[in-house]
Amino acid sequence: MFSRTRLLVGLQPRLLLNTQRNSAGASLVARRLISNTSCSHAEHDKHRHQLERLSSGIEGRSSHSAHILPQEVDAHGNQVNPYRDGPSALDKAVHLFFFTEIIRGMWIVLENFFRPPYTIMYPFEKGPLSPRFRGEHALRRYPSGEERCIACKLCEAICPAQAITIESEARMDGSRKTTKYDIDMTKCIYCGFCQEACPVDAIVETQNQEFSVETREELLYNKEKLLANGDRAEAEIAANLHSDHVYR
Ligand code: SF4
Ligand code: SF4
Repeated sequence: MFSRTRLLVGLQPRLLLNTQRNSAGASLVARRLISNTSCSHAEHDKHRHQLERLSSGIEGRSSHSAHILPQEVDAHGNQVNPYRDGPSALDKAVHLFFFTEIIRGMWIVLENFFRPPYTIMYPFEKGPLSPRFRGEHALRRYPSGEERCIACKLCEAICPAQAITIESEARMDGSRKTTKYDIDMTKCIYCGFCQEACPVDAIVETQNQEFSVETREELLYNKEKLLANGDRAEAEIAANLHSDHVYR
């Protein structure tokens, strides 16, 4: 009992000092050490040493962290206040008490309430497409009905996905025509190289992007399918090529 009283009397001022200096943690540990103890002199010394070690450790950490904290300095090496250009305490108080942030946020909500919506009801509404959009492929004909393709195979050679397969034969007049023109649309990466390479604008990519199917085989396009695509979209293809011709 005596030793406990002495410990309380002797250590409380030290504890208060440590608490003021640094840490709630140190005082908590100290109080725990005291309250759990009915201790002898030896134990008292041991606790005191523990406390001193703890206090010095916290002090060391504090000074170290103060040392490594980044400081703002000007060109002459003088310390500057990093908050000097920020809002003043009065500004902050005004914003806080008059709810200016909430009012500004509500104003943006009100503005957007009266704007036309950005969303469209696809597929009933559709957004604009560039004339250069690269969609489903098509083979074109001349107005006379003759196929444009001259079987030069440039498109087949340039296709990076090797999606195009062409077979050809000679006509009676010596020109060439394709007997087979296949595109594996599952390989195609819609790079547009084939239509860029074609010297007679025979193979083109239309603006049709809605050609999803249920089986893979339906995406293996043959010449008839490609010519049918071209016949269906010829007016659109011609208009798009014309609008882009100044850049080619
Ligand atoms: S768009 Fe590109 S990947 Fe597709 S067929 Fe043409 S060249 Fe080949
Ligand atoms: S589509 Fe064009 S590039 Fe391809 S074989 Fe025919 S003419 Fe040549």
